[in-house]
Amino acid sequence: MLAYRPATASPMSDRHATSYYRATANPYAPYAPLQGSTDARVVVVGGGFAGLNTALGLAERGLRDVVLLEREQIGHGASGRNGGFVFAGYSLGEQALLDQLGQDRARELFQRTIDGVHRIRQRIIDYAIACDAVDEGVIWANWFRDPRPLRARQQLLAERYGAHWDWLPEARLRERIHSTRYHDGLFERDALHLHPLNYAIGLAQAATAHGVRIHEHSGVRRLRREGGRWLVQTAAGEVRAEQVVLACGGYLAGLERQIDQAILPIATYVMVTEPLGARLPECLSTRAAVYDTRFAFDYYRPLPDTRLLWGGRISIRDRAPRAVQRLLHRDLLRVFPQLKDVRIDYAWSGLMSYARHQMPQIGGRDDGLWWAQAFGGHGLSSTCAAGELLAAAIAQGDDAWRQFADYGLASTYRPLGFLAAQASYWRAEFQDWFKTRLEA
Ligand SMILES: Cc1cc2nc3c(=O)[nH]c(=O)nc-3n(C[C@H](O)[C@H](O)[C@H](O)COP(=O)(O)OP(=O)(O)OC[C@H]3O[C@@H](n4cnc5c(N)ncnc54)[C@H](O)[C@@H]3O)c2cc1C
Repeated sequence: MLAYRPATASPMSDRHATSYYRATANPYAPYAPLQGSTDARVVVVGGGFAGLNTALGLAERGLRDVVLLEREQIGHGASGRNGGFVFAGYSLGEQALLDQLGQDRARELFQRTIDGVHRIRQRIIDYAIACDAVDEGVIWANWFRDPRPLRARQQLLAERYGAHWDWLPEARLRERIHSTRYHDGLFERDALHLHPLNYAIGLAQAATAHGVRIHEHSGVRRLRREGGRWLVQTAAGEVRAEQVVLACGGYLAGLERQIDQAILPIATYVMVTEPLGARLPECLSTRAAVYDTRFAFDYYRPLPDTRLLWGGRISIRDRAPRAVQRLLHRDLLRVFPQLKDVRIDYAWSGLMSYARHQMPQIGGRDDGLWWAQAFGGHGLSSTCAAGELLAAAIAQGDDAWRQFADYGLASTYRPLGFLAAQASYWRAEFQDWFKTRLEA
Protein backbone atom coordinates (compact mmCIF):
# COMPACT_ATOMS: atom_id res chain seq x y z
CA MET A 1 0.00 0.00 0.00
CA LEU A 2 1.19 3.50 -0.78
CA ALA A 3 1.40 5.70 2.25
CA TYR A 4 -0.97 8.69 2.20
CA ARG A 5 0.91 11.88 1.56
CA PRO A 6 -1.02 15.10 1.10
CA ALA A 7 0.04 17.07 -1.94
CA THR A 8 2.27 19.70 -0.41
CA ALA A 9 5.70 20.73 -1.51
CA SER A 10 7.79 19.41 1.36
CA PRO A 11 11.39 18.55 0.48
CA MET A 12 10.54 14.87 1.17
CA SER A 13 8.06 14.83 -1.68
CA ASP A 14 10.38 16.56 -4.12
CA ARG A 15 11.25 14.25 -7.04
CA HIS A 16 12.62 17.03 -9.14
CA ALA A 17 15.88 15.29 -9.95
CA THR A 18 14.02 12.63 -11.93
CA SER A 19 12.37 14.97 -14.42
CA TYR A 20 13.19 14.60 -18.12
CA TYR A 21 12.95 18.37 -18.36
CA ARG A 22 15.60 18.91 -15.68
CA ALA A 23 17.82 16.32 -17.35
CA THR A 24 17.57 18.15 -20.68
CA ALA A 25 17.48 21.73 -19.37
CA ASN A 26 19.46 24.37 -21.24
CA PRO A 27 22.46 25.24 -19.08
CA TYR A 28 22.60 28.74 -17.60
CA ALA A 29 24.67 30.52 -14.99
CA PRO A 30 22.68 30.11 -11.75
CA TYR A 31 21.15 33.25 -10.30
CA ALA A 32 22.86 34.09 -6.99
CA PRO A 33 20.78 34.02 -3.80
CA LEU A 34 19.70 37.38 -2.40
CA GLN A 35 22.30 38.75 0.03
CA GLY A 36 22.05 41.86 2.17
CA SER A 37 19.60 44.72 1.90
CA THR A 38 18.26 46.32 -1.28
CA ASP A 39 15.36 48.39 -2.67
CA ALA A 40 13.03 47.79 -5.62
CA ARG A 41 9.84 49.13 -7.14
CA VAL A 42 8.37 45.63 -7.38
CA VAL A 43 9.24 42.26 -5.85
CA VAL A 44 7.82 39.19 -7.58
CA VAL A 45 7.76 36.06 -5.41
CA GLY A 46 7.87 32.80 -7.40
CA GLY A 47 9.90 31.82 -10.45
CA GLY A 48 7.17 29.91 -12.29
CA PHE A 49 5.32 31.16 -15.36
CA ALA A 50 3.07 33.50 -13.35
CA GLY A 51 6.03 35.25 -11.72
CA LEU A 52 8.21 35.22 -14.83
CA ASN A 53 5.50 36.57 -17.11
CA THR A 54 4.75 39.36 -14.63
CA ALA A 55 8.41 40.30 -14.23
CA LEU A 56 9.01 40.22 -17.98
CA GLY A 57 5.80 42.15 -18.65
CA LEU A 58 6.93 44.85 -16.19
CA ALA A 59 10.38 45.02 -17.76
CA GLU A 60 8.93 45.18 -21.28
CA ARG A 61 6.91 48.20 -20.11
CA GLY A 62 10.11 49.94 -19.07
CA LEU A 63 10.08 49.24 -15.32
CA ARG A 64 13.73 48.64 -14.51
CA ASP A 65 13.57 48.12 -10.78
CA VAL A 66 12.10 44.63 -10.47
CA VAL A 67 13.40 41.79 -8.27
CA LEU A 68 12.19 38.19 -8.65
CA LEU A 69 12.77 35.76 -5.77
CA GLU A 70 12.52 31.99 -6.25
CA ARG A 71 12.74 29.52 -3.37
CA GLU A 72 14.47 26.84 -5.45
CA GLN A 73 15.38 27.20 -9.12
CA ILE A 74 13.55 28.82 -12.02
CA GLY A 75 10.75 26.46 -13.08
CA HIS A 76 11.01 24.35 -9.95
CA GLY A 77 7.23 24.16 -9.60
CA ALA A 78 4.49 23.16 -12.03
CA SER A 79 5.96 25.41 -14.72
CA GLY A 80 9.04 23.23 -15.12
CA ARG A 81 7.23 19.89 -14.85
CA ASN A 82 4.07 20.13 -16.92
CA GLY A 83 2.79 18.51 -20.10
CA GLY A 84 3.92 21.45 -22.21
CA PHE A 85 0.53 21.91 -23.96
CA VAL A 86 -0.05 25.54 -24.91
CA PHE A 87 -3.75 25.96 -25.56
CA ALA A 88 -6.54 28.42 -24.86
CA GLY A 89 -9.07 28.24 -22.05
CA TYR A 90 -9.29 27.71 -18.32
CA SER A 91 -9.89 24.80 -16.00
CA LEU A 92 -13.47 26.01 -15.76
CA GLY A 93 -15.32 24.79 -18.85
CA GLU A 94 -16.49 27.17 -21.56
CA GLN A 95 -20.18 26.57 -20.89
CA ALA A 96 -19.80 27.30 -17.16
CA LEU A 97 -17.87 30.47 -17.98
CA LEU A 98 -20.75 31.61 -20.20
CA ASP A 99 -23.33 30.75 -17.57
CA GLN A 100 -21.44 32.69 -14.92
CA LEU A 101 -20.40 35.79 -16.87
CA GLY A 102 -22.65 36.06 -19.90
CA GLN A 103 -21.56 36.20 -23.53
CA ASP A 104 -19.43 39.34 -23.66
CA ARG A 105 -17.44 38.95 -20.47
CA ALA A 106 -16.88 35.22 -20.98
CA ARG A 107 -15.57 35.86 -24.47
CA GLU A 108 -13.30 38.63 -23.22
CA LEU A 109 -11.71 36.32 -20.65
CA PHE A 110 -11.39 33.44 -23.11
CA GLN A 111 -9.78 35.76 -25.64
CA ARG A 112 -7.08 36.61 -23.10
CA THR A 113 -5.89 33.00 -23.26
CA ILE A 114 -5.99 32.94 -27.07
CA ASP A 115 -3.84 36.08 -26.93
CA GLY A 116 -1.64 34.24 -24.41
CA VAL A 117 -1.02 31.45 -26.93
CA HIS A 118 -0.05 34.02 -29.57
CA ARG A 119 2.20 35.91 -27.17
CA ILE A 120 4.01 32.69 -26.19
CA ARG A 121 4.68 31.95 -29.87
CA GLN A 122 5.90 35.50 -30.41
CA ARG A 123 8.16 35.52 -27.35
CA ILE A 124 9.79 32.27 -28.44
CA ILE A 125 10.68 34.04 -31.69
CA ASP A 126 11.54 37.46 -30.24
CA TYR A 127 13.78 36.09 -27.50
CA ALA A 128 15.07 33.10 -29.52
CA ILE A 129 14.03 30.66 -26.77
CA ALA A 130 15.22 27.14 -27.55
CA CYS A 131 12.36 25.09 -26.11
CA ASP A 132 11.55 22.45 -28.76
CA ALA A 133 8.31 24.22 -29.67
CA VAL A 134 6.14 22.16 -32.02
CA ASP A 135 3.45 24.37 -33.54
CA GLU A 136 1.24 21.57 -34.84
CA GLY A 137 -1.87 21.80 -32.72
CA VAL A 138 -3.55 19.65 -30.10
CA ILE A 139 -6.00 16.77 -30.61
CA TRP A 140 -8.89 16.15 -28.22
CA ALA A 141 -9.55 12.43 -28.77
CA ASN A 142 -12.92 10.93 -27.89
CA TRP A 143 -12.58 8.13 -25.36
CA PHE A 144 -16.27 7.35 -25.76
CA ARG A 145 -18.42 6.36 -28.74
CA ASP A 146 -20.90 9.17 -28.24
CA PRO A 147 -19.86 12.09 -30.52
CA ARG A 148 -22.44 14.54 -29.17
CA PRO A 149 -20.32 16.20 -26.44
CA LEU A 150 -17.64 16.91 -29.06
CA ARG A 151 -20.12 18.31 -31.56
CA ALA A 152 -21.63 20.47 -28.83
CA ARG A 153 -18.25 21.81 -27.71
CA GLN A 154 -17.14 22.46 -31.27
CA GLN A 155 -20.30 24.46 -31.91
CA LEU A 156 -20.08 26.35 -28.62
CA LEU A 157 -16.47 27.32 -29.22
CA ALA A 158 -17.19 28.52 -32.75
CA GLU A 159 -20.44 30.37 -32.08
CA ARG A 160 -19.75 31.88 -28.68
CA TYR A 161 -15.96 32.22 -28.56
CA GLY A 162 -14.93 32.48 -32.20
CA ALA A 163 -12.54 29.52 -31.76
CA HIS A 164 -12.60 26.98 -34.57
CA TRP A 165 -11.69 23.37 -33.85
CA ASP A 166 -11.77 20.88 -36.74
CA TRP A 167 -13.76 17.69 -36.67
CA LEU A 168 -11.69 14.49 -36.97
CA PRO A 169 -13.84 11.50 -37.94
CA GLU A 170 -12.73 8.19 -36.46
CA ALA A 171 -10.90 7.05 -39.62
CA ARG A 172 -8.90 10.28 -39.85
CA LEU A 173 -8.16 10.24 -36.14
CA ARG A 174 -6.83 6.70 -36.41
CA GLU A 175 -4.57 7.68 -39.30
CA ARG A 176 -2.89 9.99 -36.80
CA ILE A 177 -3.21 8.03 -33.55
CA HIS A 178 -2.80 4.29 -34.03
CA SER A 179 -5.06 3.15 -31.23
CA THR A 180 -8.47 1.52 -31.30
CA ARG A 181 -9.14 3.16 -27.94
CA TYR A 182 -10.54 6.37 -29.47
CA HIS A 183 -13.42 7.16 -31.73
CA ASP A 184 -13.56 10.61 -33.26
CA GLY A 185 -11.90 13.81 -32.14
CA LEU A 186 -11.45 17.57 -32.40
CA PHE A 187 -8.32 19.29 -33.61
CA GLU A 188 -7.33 22.63 -32.08
CA ARG A 189 -4.99 24.04 -34.68
CA ASP A 190 -4.13 27.22 -32.82
CA ALA A 191 -2.13 25.39 -30.15
CA LEU A 192 1.41 24.13 -29.68
CA HIS A 193 3.60 22.17 -27.30
CA LEU A 194 7.03 22.83 -25.89
CA HIS A 195 9.68 21.98 -23.30
CA PRO A 196 8.27 24.04 -20.45
CA LEU A 197 11.38 24.21 -18.29
CA ASN A 198 13.47 25.52 -21.16
CA TYR A 199 10.72 27.99 -21.94
CA ALA A 200 10.84 29.17 -18.29
CA ILE A 201 14.63 29.44 -18.41
CA GLY A 202 14.28 31.47 -21.63
CA LEU A 203 11.74 33.82 -20.05
CA ALA A 204 14.08 34.34 -17.10
CA GLN A 205 16.92 35.20 -19.47
CA ALA A 206 14.70 37.62 -21.38
CA ALA A 207 13.68 39.28 -18.11
CA THR A 208 17.26 39.66 -16.88
CA ALA A 209 18.27 41.08 -20.27
CA HIS A 210 15.61 43.76 -19.61
CA GLY A 211 17.10 44.48 -16.17
CA VAL A 212 15.08 42.22 -13.83
CA ARG A 213 17.21 40.99 -10.92
CA ILE A 214 16.54 37.28 -10.33
CA HIS A 215 17.64 35.39 -7.22
CA GLU A 216 17.29 31.61 -6.94
CA HIS A 217 17.46 29.74 -3.63
CA SER A 218 15.87 32.80 -2.08
CA GLY A 219 12.67 31.62 -0.45
CA VAL A 220 10.70 34.48 1.05
CA ARG A 221 10.16 33.78 4.73
CA ARG A 222 8.49 36.94 5.86
CA LEU A 223 6.46 39.70 4.32
CA ARG A 224 5.35 42.77 6.25
CA ARG A 225 4.57 46.45 5.98
CA GLU A 226 7.23 48.81 7.32
CA GLY A 227 7.29 52.57 6.89
CA GLY A 228 4.68 52.60 4.12
CA ARG A 229 6.54 49.97 2.05
CA TRP A 230 6.80 46.19 1.93
CA LEU A 231 9.70 44.44 3.62
CA VAL A 232 10.39 41.09 1.92
CA GLN A 233 12.82 38.88 3.85
CA THR A 234 14.74 35.77 2.81
CA ALA A 235 17.27 33.79 4.85
CA ALA A 236 20.19 36.00 3.82
CA GLY A 237 18.67 39.22 2.54
CA GLU A 238 15.78 41.63 2.36
CA VAL A 239 14.14 43.91 -0.19
CA ARG A 240 12.07 47.03 0.48
CA ALA A 241 9.52 47.56 -2.25
CA GLU A 242 6.40 49.54 -3.10
CA GLN A 243 4.60 46.56 -4.60
CA VAL A 244 4.78 42.79 -4.15
CA VAL A 245 3.37 40.09 -6.43
CA LEU A 246 2.77 36.64 -4.95
CA ALA A 247 2.95 34.00 -7.67
CA CYS A 248 3.66 30.77 -5.85
CA GLY A 249 1.07 28.39 -7.34
CA GLY A 250 0.62 25.05 -5.59
CA TYR A 251 3.99 25.42 -3.92
CA LEU A 252 2.42 27.65 -1.28
CA ALA A 253 4.30 30.75 -0.26
CA GLY A 254 3.20 30.53 3.38
CA LEU A 255 3.20 34.33 3.56
CA GLU A 256 -0.41 35.53 3.49
CA ARG A 257 -2.97 33.21 4.98
CA GLN A 258 -5.93 34.38 2.91
CA ILE A 259 -3.99 33.96 -0.34
CA ASP A 260 -2.57 30.55 0.61
CA GLN A 261 -5.90 29.25 1.86
CA ALA A 262 -7.59 30.19 -1.41
CA ILE A 263 -5.98 27.31 -3.29
CA LEU A 264 -5.71 23.55 -3.15
CA PRO A 265 -2.43 22.06 -4.39
CA ILE A 266 -3.44 19.10 -6.56
CA ALA A 267 -0.98 16.56 -7.94
CA THR A 268 -0.75 15.20 -11.47
CA TYR A 269 1.83 12.83 -12.91
CA VAL A 270 4.13 12.55 -15.91
CA MET A 271 6.52 9.94 -17.30
CA VAL A 272 8.79 9.71 -20.33
CA THR A 273 9.62 6.56 -22.26
CA GLU A 274 12.95 5.56 -23.67
CA PRO A 275 13.55 6.81 -27.26
CA LEU A 276 11.13 4.75 -29.37
CA GLY A 277 12.84 5.07 -32.72
CA ALA A 278 10.80 3.24 -35.36
CA ARG A 279 8.23 2.25 -32.74
CA LEU A 280 6.97 5.83 -32.41
CA PRO A 281 5.27 5.82 -35.85
CA GLU A 282 3.55 2.60 -34.78
CA CYS A 283 1.70 4.79 -32.27
CA LEU A 284 1.58 8.28 -33.73
CA SER A 285 1.65 9.70 -37.22
CA THR A 286 1.22 13.24 -35.97
CA ARG A 287 3.38 15.72 -34.14
CA ALA A 288 0.32 17.20 -32.42
CA ALA A 289 -0.12 16.75 -28.68
CA VAL A 290 -3.07 14.59 -27.59
CA TYR A 291 -5.47 14.41 -24.64
CA ASP A 292 -8.77 12.60 -24.26
CA THR A 293 -12.32 13.41 -23.26
CA ARG A 294 -12.45 11.89 -19.77
CA PHE A 295 -12.44 13.95 -16.59
CA ALA A 296 -9.02 12.55 -15.57
CA PHE A 297 -7.64 12.34 -19.08
CA ASP A 298 -4.36 10.99 -20.42
CA TYR A 299 -2.21 13.64 -22.11
CA TYR A 300 0.80 12.89 -24.24
CA ARG A 301 3.06 14.13 -26.97
CA PRO A 302 6.03 12.96 -29.00
CA LEU A 303 9.40 14.44 -28.04
CA PRO A 304 12.11 15.37 -30.55
CA ASP A 305 14.27 12.32 -29.75
CA THR A 306 11.31 9.93 -30.40
CA ARG A 307 10.43 9.50 -26.73
CA LEU A 308 6.79 9.70 -25.71
CA LEU A 309 5.92 12.03 -22.84
CA TRP A 310 2.84 10.68 -21.08
CA GLY A 311 0.84 12.35 -18.31
CA GLY A 312 -2.35 11.77 -16.45
CA ARG A 313 -4.33 11.37 -13.25
CA ILE A 314 -5.22 14.01 -10.73
CA SER A 315 -5.05 13.38 -7.05
CA ILE A 316 -4.56 14.99 -3.68
CA ARG A 317 -1.64 12.57 -3.28
CA ASP A 318 1.87 13.37 -4.35
CA ARG A 319 3.45 10.07 -5.38
CA ALA A 320 7.02 8.81 -5.63
CA PRO A 321 8.40 8.26 -9.17
CA ARG A 322 8.10 4.48 -9.06
CA ALA A 323 4.42 4.66 -8.12
CA VAL A 324 3.81 7.27 -10.83
CA GLN A 325 5.51 5.02 -13.36
CA ARG A 326 3.43 1.99 -12.38
CA LEU A 327 0.15 3.86 -12.66
CA LEU A 328 0.93 5.66 -15.90
CA HIS A 329 2.46 2.64 -17.58
CA ARG A 330 -0.85 0.83 -17.11
CA ASP A 331 -2.66 3.80 -18.61
CA LEU A 332 -0.26 3.88 -21.57
CA LEU A 333 -0.85 0.21 -22.38
CA ARG A 334 -4.61 0.71 -22.45
CA VAL A 335 -4.08 3.07 -25.39
CA PHE A 336 -0.95 1.65 -27.00
CA PRO A 337 -0.67 -2.07 -26.15
CA GLN A 338 2.05 -2.20 -28.82
CA LEU A 339 4.36 -0.51 -26.28
CA LYS A 340 4.17 -3.45 -23.88
CA ASP A 341 7.88 -3.78 -23.25
CA VAL A 342 8.79 -0.15 -23.37
CA ARG A 343 11.25 1.16 -20.80
CA ILE A 344 10.30 4.21 -18.77
CA ASP A 345 13.25 6.52 -18.21
CA TYR A 346 11.68 9.30 -16.15
CA ALA A 347 8.67 9.75 -13.91
CA TRP A 348 7.70 12.64 -11.68
CA SER A 349 4.80 14.51 -10.21
CA GLY A 350 3.91 18.17 -9.91
CA LEU A 351 1.44 20.34 -8.06
CA MET A 352 -1.18 22.48 -9.75
CA SER A 353 -3.06 25.13 -7.82
CA TYR A 354 -6.85 25.09 -7.95
CA ALA A 355 -9.42 27.51 -6.62
CA ARG A 356 -12.90 26.34 -5.67
CA HIS A 357 -14.28 28.25 -8.64
CA GLN A 358 -11.68 26.64 -11.00
CA MET A 359 -10.62 30.02 -12.38
CA PRO A 360 -7.34 31.88 -11.88
CA GLN A 361 -7.13 34.29 -8.98
CA ILE A 362 -5.64 37.50 -10.33
CA GLY A 363 -5.97 40.53 -8.13
CA GLY A 364 -4.53 43.17 -5.89
CA ARG A 365 -5.08 45.34 -2.82
CA ASP A 366 -4.71 49.06 -2.17
CA ASP A 367 -1.58 48.46 -0.10
CA GLY A 368 0.36 47.19 -3.15
CA LEU A 369 0.01 43.45 -2.60
CA TRP A 370 -0.88 41.52 -5.76
CA TRP A 371 -1.46 37.85 -6.46
CA ALA A 372 -1.64 35.49 -9.46
CA GLN A 373 -2.41 31.87 -8.74
CA ALA A 374 -4.90 28.99 -9.24
CA PHE A 375 -4.14 28.36 -12.90
CA GLY A 376 -5.03 24.67 -12.56
CA GLY A 377 -4.14 22.45 -15.50
CA HIS A 378 -4.39 25.30 -18.04
CA GLY A 379 -1.45 27.36 -16.88
CA LEU A 380 0.66 28.11 -19.93
CA SER A 381 -1.61 30.59 -21.70
CA SER A 382 -3.41 31.86 -18.60
CA THR A 383 -0.21 32.73 -16.68
CA CYS A 384 0.86 34.66 -19.75
CA ALA A 385 -2.46 36.54 -19.64
CA ALA A 386 -2.07 37.13 -15.90
CA GLY A 387 1.47 38.47 -16.29
CA GLU A 388 0.23 40.98 -18.86
CA LEU A 389 -2.68 42.09 -16.69
CA LEU A 390 -0.59 42.59 -13.57
CA ALA A 391 2.28 44.23 -15.40
CA ALA A 392 -0.14 46.69 -17.04
CA ALA A 393 -1.80 47.32 -13.67
CA ILE A 394 1.45 48.02 -11.83
CA ALA A 395 3.35 49.85 -14.56
CA GLN A 396 0.48 51.75 -16.20
CA GLY A 397 -2.37 51.79 -13.69
CA ASP A 398 -4.51 49.72 -16.08
CA ASP A 399 -7.46 48.14 -14.30
CA ALA A 400 -8.30 45.37 -16.79
CA TRP A 401 -7.31 42.84 -14.09
CA ARG A 402 -10.67 43.62 -12.50
CA GLN A 403 -12.23 41.42 -15.20
CA PHE A 404 -11.26 38.59 -12.84
CA ALA A 405 -12.90 40.23 -9.82
CA ASP A 406 -15.68 37.61 -9.75
CA TYR A 407 -13.06 34.96 -9.08
CA GLY A 408 -11.79 35.96 -5.67
CA LEU A 409 -9.88 34.39 -2.82
CA ALA A 410 -12.63 32.11 -1.48
CA SER A 411 -11.18 29.73 1.10
CA THR A 412 -10.67 26.10 0.10
CA TYR A 413 -10.87 25.07 3.78
CA ARG A 414 -7.68 23.00 3.67
CA PRO A 415 -7.17 20.33 4.89
CA LEU A 416 -10.89 19.42 4.73
CA GLY A 417 -11.05 20.80 1.19
CA PHE A 418 -8.66 18.03 0.08
CA LEU A 419 -11.19 15.38 1.02
CA ALA A 420 -14.01 17.14 -0.80
CA ALA A 421 -11.82 17.47 -3.90
CA GLN A 422 -10.78 13.81 -3.81
CA ALA A 423 -14.40 12.73 -3.38
CA SER A 424 -15.46 14.73 -6.43
CA TYR A 425 -12.54 13.33 -8.49
CA TRP A 426 -13.52 9.79 -7.56
CA ARG A 427 -17.13 10.53 -8.51
CA ALA A 428 -16.11 11.89 -11.90
CA GLU A 429 -13.69 9.01 -12.49
CA PHE A 430 -16.39 6.53 -11.58
CA GLN A 431 -18.77 8.16 -14.08
CA ASP A 432 -16.13 7.85 -16.80
CA TRP A 433 -15.43 4.22 -15.86
CA PHE A 434 -19.15 3.43 -15.85
CA LYS A 435 -19.71 5.04 -19.26
CA THR A 436 -16.74 3.10 -20.66
CA ARG A 437 -18.17 -0.16 -19.33
CA LEU A 438 -21.63 0.60 -20.68
CA GLU A 439 -20.26 1.27 -24.15
CA ALA A 440 -18.11 -1.86 -24.06
C1 LIG B 1 2.38 17.64 -14.17
C2 LIG B 1 1.67 18.87 -14.67
C3 LIG B 1 1.22 18.91 -15.98
C4 LIG B 1 0.61 20.08 -16.47
N1 LIG B 1 0.35 20.18 -17.80
C5 LIG B 1 -0.04 21.39 -18.32
C6 LIG B 1 -0.13 21.57 -19.72
O1 LIG B 1 0.21 20.68 -20.50
N2 LIG B 1 -0.59 22.78 -20.18
C7 LIG B 1 -0.94 23.79 -19.34
O2 LIG B 1 -1.36 24.85 -19.82
N3 LIG B 1 -0.80 23.65 -17.99
C8 LIG B 1 -0.34 22.49 -17.46
N4 LIG B 1 -0.16 22.36 -16.12
C9 LIG B 1 -0.45 23.51 -15.27
C10 LIG B 1 0.67 24.57 -15.31
O3 LIG B 1 1.93 23.96 -15.27
C11 LIG B 1 0.52 25.52 -14.12
O4 LIG B 1 -0.80 26.02 -14.07
C12 LIG B 1 1.48 26.70 -14.18
O5 LIG B 1 2.77 26.27 -14.46
C13 LIG B 1 1.41 27.46 -12.86
O6 LIG B 1 2.45 28.41 -12.82
P1 LIG B 1 2.71 29.21 -11.48
O7 LIG B 1 3.79 30.17 -11.77
O8 LIG B 1 1.42 29.71 -10.95
O9 LIG B 1 3.19 28.11 -10.41
P2 LIG B 1 4.54 27.27 -10.29
O10 LIG B 1 5.10 26.95 -11.61
O11 LIG B 1 4.23 26.12 -9.40
O12 LIG B 1 5.57 28.25 -9.61
C14 LIG B 1 5.50 28.67 -8.28
C15 LIG B 1 6.92 28.94 -7.81
O13 LIG B 1 6.89 29.65 -6.58
C16 LIG B 1 7.98 29.24 -5.81
N5 LIG B 1 7.73 29.61 -4.41
C17 LIG B 1 6.77 29.12 -3.57
N6 LIG B 1 6.85 29.73 -2.38
C18 LIG B 1 7.88 30.62 -2.44
C19 LIG B 1 8.45 31.53 -1.51
N7 LIG B 1 7.98 31.66 -0.26
N8 LIG B 1 9.51 32.27 -1.91
C20 LIG B 1 10.01 32.17 -3.17
N9 LIG B 1 9.49 31.32 -4.10
C21 LIG B 1 8.44 30.56 -3.73
C22 LIG B 1 8.05 27.74 -6.07
O14 LIG B 1 9.33 27.20 -5.75
C23 LIG B 1 7.70 27.66 -7.55
O15 LIG B 1 8.86 27.66 -8.38
C24 LIG B 1 0.39 21.19 -15.58
C25 LIG B 1 0.79 21.11 -14.25
C26 LIG B 1 1.44 19.97 -13.78
C27 LIG B 1 1.89 19.92 -12.35
